[in-house]
Amino acid sequence: MESEQPLSEDDDRDTQPNEPRIRVTKGTPWVIDRGRRERWSAPDFVTKHAVEVRQVGDPVLHAPGKKPRIDKKELEPLVQRMFASMVEAHGIGIAAPQIGVPLRVVIIDVDDVGIVAVNPEVDFQSAEVEEMSEGCLSVRGLYGMLERPILARVSAIDITGKKFTIEGEGLGTQCMLHETDHTNGMLYVDRLRTRKDLFPVEPDEPGEEHHSLSGHTREEMERATSR
Ligand SMILES: [Zn+2]
Repeated sequence: MESEQPLSEDDDRDTQPNEPRIRVTKGTPWVIDRGRRERWSAPDFVTKHAVEVRQVGDPVLHAPGKKPRIDKKELEPLVQRMFASMVEAHGIGIAAPQIGVPLRVVIIDVDDVGIVAVNPEVDFQSAEVEEMSEGCLSVRGLYGMLERPILARVSAIDITGKKFTIEGEGLGTQCMLHETDHTNGMLYVDRLRTRKDLFPVEPDEPGEEHHSLSGHTREEMERATSR
């Protein structure tokens, strides 16, 4: 998921830095801890491991992923490539299909929680919803307005096979559900009620390249929602 939230005036990350919006409520999963984050965010590491993020229309994004074999020796290098690609693209979450690997593995990184979830499954979502802006590294240059539950709980296993459960609120819930959707071949644009809820990212938004928005925005929007 994209970190630039175009409508971010009510984003309270700066004022409430101590309340992560995702918490582990059961188990003690292997995570991208501070040491790994430091090593894997280093420019040399990112350059070496980051791969191009697949874009909407690529078949790998639109088919359900497979359950991976639990083997830390195989999964950790995958997670490294995912993390480096996410860092390079300024994301706060990424799923294996986004780097072309059709497996049910996601990173959820709101508030730097560093959760790596294998076979994530949503086992609770609140009836109460809120409309938030949502972007995706695989839908470049656009964001949507989408209702998501305020609270959710996701169960998964870590890359060593240990079960755990996480709970989220607000942006945390949005990211958990967004990344879990990716493992089912679904993008947020598939959940929009209408194409009118999809908008180009403003050219003045920091981190956005101006040239990507001129001319072909309409085409990008049509491509994003034609599936
Ligand atoms: Zn996404």
